[in-house]
Amino acid sequence: MFETTDRVAMLLPADRPRYFMGIGDPEGILEVIEAGVDLFDSVLPTRTARSGAAITWQGRLNLRNARYARDPEPLEPACDCPACTGYSRAYLRLLSAHNLRFVLELTRGAREAIERGSFAAYKRDCLERLSTWDR
Ligand SMILES: [Zn+2]
Repeated sequence: MFETTDRVAMLLPADRPRYFMGIGDPEGILEVIEAGVDLFDSVLPTRTARSGAAITWQGRLNLRNARYARDPEPLEPACDCPACTGYSRAYLRLLSAHNLRFVLELTRGAREAIERGSFAAYKRDCLERLSTWDR
């Protein structure tokens, strides 16, 4: 899929936005951004939340695991979404808000890295952080 995206992106006009339908995992988002994709959408952040999991920089937290049942920590200490600023990991209902914020922050960082000319380093750092996911 990514090889095809790379090839197709090179054939498209550089002055037009490129849309990729259905990519929502952080690693996949970074791959298609690197290929030149500008827009994408996915149900993954909200679907993941409905299954009881949060997308975080510490990895994917499966909050149905017993170890989180009484965990007083926020989902993501550095996140400013309503789920993280107002509730503990023991509280599951705001996962969609958090997962959407995560993806928005991931792509905000990608935009800034592209403007600085350091997307490759940004992607490498993100993938390293995401490699610890609680799968
Ligand atoms: Zn959050």
